[in-house]
Amino acid sequence: MDLRDTPEEAAFRAELRTWIETNLSDEIRRGRFEEAGRDWSRKLHEAGYAGLTWPKEYGGAGAPYSHQAIFLEEMARAEAPPHLGVIGLGMAGPTIIAHGTDAQKQKHLEKILSTEEIWCQGFSEPDAGSDLSAVRTTARSENGHFVVDGQKVWSSFAHIADWCILVTRSDPGSERHAGLTYMLVDMHAPGVEVRPLRQITGEAEFNEIFFTGVEVPTENVVGEVGGGWQVAMTTLLHERGTLGFALTAGLESQIRKLIALARKRGATPVQRDAIAREWIGLQAVRYTNYRSLTTLMKTGIPGPEGSGAKLWWSEANQRVTKLALELLGPEAQIVEDGGYWQHQQLRSRGNTIEAGTSEILRNIIAERVLGLPRSR
Ligand SMILES: Cc1cc2nc3c(=O)[nH]c(=O)nc-3n(C[C@H](O)[C@H](O)[C@H](O)COP(=O)(O)OP(=O)(O)OC[C@H]3O[C@@H](n4cnc5c(N)ncnc54)[C@H](O)[C@@H]3O)c2cc1C
Repeated sequence: MDLRDTPEEAAFRAELRTWIETNLSDEIRRGRFEEAGRDWSRKLHEAGYAGLTWPKEYGGAGAPYSHQAIFLEEMARAEAPPHLGVIGLGMAGPTIIAHGTDAQKQKHLEKILSTEEIWCQGFSEPDAGSDLSAVRTTARSENGHFVVDGQKVWSSFAHIADWCILVTRSDPGSERHAGLTYMLVDMHAPGVEVRPLRQITGEAEFNEIFFTGVEVPTENVVGEVGGGWQVAMTTLLHERGTLGFALTAGLESQIRKLIALARKRGATPVQRDAIAREWIGLQAVRYTNYRSLTTLMKTGIPGPEGSGAKLWWSEANQRVTKLALELLGPEAQIVEDGGYWQHQQLRSRGNTIEAGTSEILRNIIAERVLGLPRSR
């Protein structure tokens, strides 16, 4: 198998690299994500880089998944901020494309690309995280609409979101995977209340969302009423779909920073071995990503292999950060040069929890990639 870019992919990469160099100002790179992110996202959309693989009729570029992988790699290499519509582009949009009605596609897809609509994901609840089938937020059918009551938690971007992909229990007598309904909820509707949660980094990226008697039109249901589990699984597969390419490219630039630090401060033979091991692991996960990309290009649906890249990256990110702090020694407690490693130390804790905890990802890899017997 030839893993190098084809001449056409190489041309796309070169053009994109030049575009990023021309358009990514230091202001955007260093600006607060929410403000700078809107301008940057609009630029990406105008240049045709948002929704690369989406159908042309909904504002996408209809490009192959290999272009999306190249796009993520180049963005991470340039340390460019992502498109502000992380959840709309990566999860809500692909789910609407796969399961939505024509009216839902017409209404939302183009606005997701242009950031006219920012989306959040309302899956987790105080007692339903790893086990999404324990969802208790209810949706009661009443006179041509649903009435939603309940609480979601850890919803990233909910404080700036216009819409939410929401998993609800629509059949009150149902248990586990049955009786769930997936719906698109207007975050500006009466009865929706968002309360930001402050993280260990001091930032407030995620939120609690309270729903009290929120009316949701029946036409906002995605898939079948009671068939929400299958729709939610599409969202989760896309969450980890081509993400691996962005994660590995991000990890590569981080390991390069670690090597520069080791050169500057000096490293013991044991530390040098540890750095080399991280570099070797990175190469292995990079080639595993190509395997996921092959599945995606053949089927159009991300396979469970994406869990491997997410698992590796999240744990490697914590190990690399720990090594950097070790090299800094007592000075690690002093924030200098923007405090990159200090911020990483705090933020990387959440990496092994968000988008599936390490334990859950190991279960997925064991059962669905390796075909081992189910754990329960
Ligand atoms: C930064 C961040 C952003 C997030 N953004 C969102 C978002 O936008 N939308 C959203 O809906 N959610 C979001 N989440 C929530 C995230 O999906 C959940 O935190 C995650 O699924 C784990 O659920 P939990 O916190 O309820 O932990 P629990 O599920 O209670 O797990 C607790 C511990 O038990 C382990 N465990 C649980 N079940 C098993 C099992 N079967 N086998 C082995 N071990 C197990 C877990 O690995 C974990 O260590 C975010 C989380 C973080 C940290």
